[in-house]
Amino acid sequence: MEMKIIKSPAEMQHQAIAWKREGLKIALVPTMGCLHAGHLSLMRKAVQNADKVIVSLFVNPMQFGPNEDFAAYPRQFQIDCDLAEKEGVHLIFCPDAKEMYPEGFQTTVSVKTLTQGMCGADRPGHFDGVATVVSKLLHLTIPDIAVFGEKDFQQLAVIRQMVRDLHFPVTIIGSPIVREADGLAMSSRNKYLAGEMRTQALCLYRSIQAAQQIVARAGHDVAAGTIIEATKKTVAEAGGKLEYAVVVDEHSLQAETFVGSSSVLAIAVKIGGVVRLIDNAKLFIVKK
Ligand code: AMP
Repeated sequence: MEMKIIKSPAEMQHQAIAWKREGLKIALVPTMGCLHAGHLSLMRKAVQNADKVIVSLFVNPMQFGPNEDFAAYPRQFQIDCDLAEKEGVHLIFCPDAKEMYPEGFQTTVSVKTLTQGMCGADRPGHFDGVATVVSKLLHLTIPDIAVFGEKDFQQLAVIRQMVRDLHFPVTIIGSPIVREADGLAMSSRNKYLAGEMRTQALCLYRSIQAAQQIVARAGHDVAAGTIIEATKKTVAEAGGKLEYAVVVDEHSLQAETFVGSSSVLAIAVKIGGVVRLIDNAKLFIVKK
């Protein structure tokens, strides 16, 4: 069957209700488009776990700050539709900002504590925009499951908390980071990395590898400060500007003094003064 494309929020909700009445299991994969292999891995997971898969393509103005890249954010609607269709997606939901946020819109969903540090501190209002749009998307698509990438580690924690706090009847599924062959985490913003910047961007993954090596060698009692210092050095040597590097508990996002089994190193770096990239990884690698 051909993939459906729906722009109207009301029509989207009608379709979702009709599928639910038929007893079909719905999966949602929210994206801002400009799809890459990371997004496609989420779609694959959704297709495996649901009868109907909805992918939203929406560059959400509410999650961008006034000096951020909303206008420049890469958009490639037809290519995205073709990629999603190949993965077996059933419906693309691509609303207009005017319909998502009509005149007089005045409600915000705000998750308090988890949004305080990391990207929340660097990007005021960002997670209110994310929580609000994801709430709206969940109401419009009524999914049984929604798949999010671990790439946006703080976002995933925020969404899990919001779903718990507000009793959304959905199961949130996290999916591992997909990387380029040289380790750079896939991101729509990698399109901005011209020439030298692409090489510099490797400092995020290099920092993660270095941290994992430190932990693997020491085995125990590694101070978070040691990891953070090593990261600062790696990023500075590459010519990047470190926005933050933290060692936090993967669930509470609270900073840790020593590395433990649930510790995550999360980093944000500006490359070439303009392109802000994030990455993260658990520090203890469980050998299978
Ligand atoms: P975005 O379009 O950047 O808002 O991302 C949409 C979804 O794709 C989010 O849940 C992201 O965490 C996820 N995502 C983005 N990049 C990757 C990646 N490299 N690997 C896995 N998931 C990703």
